[in-house]
Amino acid sequence: MANKELLRRKREQLIEEKGVIYLDNVTKAYSAAAPALNGVTLSIGRGEFVFIVGETGSGKSTMIKLLLRELTASSGSVYVMGNDLAKLKHNQVPKFRRNIGVVFQDFRLLNDRNVYENVAFAQRIVETPNAEIRRNVPTILATVGLAGKYKAKTKELSGGEQQRVAMARALINNPAILLADEPTGNLDPRNSWEIMRLLEEINESGTTVVVVTHNREIVNAMHKRVVTMKRGVIVSDEEGGEYIDED
Ligand code: ADP
Ligand code: MG
Repeated sequence: MANKELLRRKREQLIEEKGVIYLDNVTKAYSAAAPALNGVTLSIGRGEFVFIVGETGSGKSTMIKLLLRELTASSGSVYVMGNDLAKLKHNQVPKFRRNIGVVFQDFRLLNDRNVYENVAFAQRIVETPNAEIRRNVPTILATVGLAGKYKAKTKELSGGEQQRVAMARALINNPAILLADEPTGNLDPRNSWEIMRLLEEINESGTTVVVVTHNREIVNAMHKRVVTMKRGVIVSDEEGGEYIDED
């Protein structure tokens, strides 16, 4: 028990000093080819909103997968919520992932289930009691603007609505961090803006938000921190930054 408390304090101290996300000189090589990430160091503090931009193949999704512990670094260290991900044991990974909500370009919904089931599923995995699920799902659906759609099959929804379901699913377990990998890649401008505003609201309520995007207009309008990647390295990291041209 005392030991557990000590570990908790060590994690908390690392978060205070280095952020909820901390990549320390991280390289990830998939093969003998040039590494996808090459000596990346990056700190993201609790409650920040950060855009990650850069040309296709620059290593953005690789970074997201390292943060989710879908991949492990070839060298260097990845810390999330004060956990050194290289030291996480296999059976600790599911519990670790409860800290993180994730949204992808292609929504990744269960298309034979309705909206309610898609969101409730995320709570069943973490063994939330049914009575609580029945309270939580309508609340989160209202937050993402889908209060009336809980019975709809996801394949009957527009792209913008499907991405909101994905957002609800990502948020229902109250994660400290939300990672979004090109969440507006399949959406029209209006829906893209609505999803980005929702990400901003979620951030304002305290969640750390990291958004990979190609949406120049939105990045330039939102005046957030912008980290620009090129060929596996960070070439710029600016508060209130702009989308830098890709050439
Ligand atoms: P981005 O998301 O910025 O487009 P990625 O992280 O997907 O970039 O890819 C970075 C580099 O790593 C690219 O050169 C890509 O081809 C390579 N890569 C990504 N995933 C794999 C994989 N599973 N196996 C081999 N190479 C990969
Ligand atoms: Mg990508």
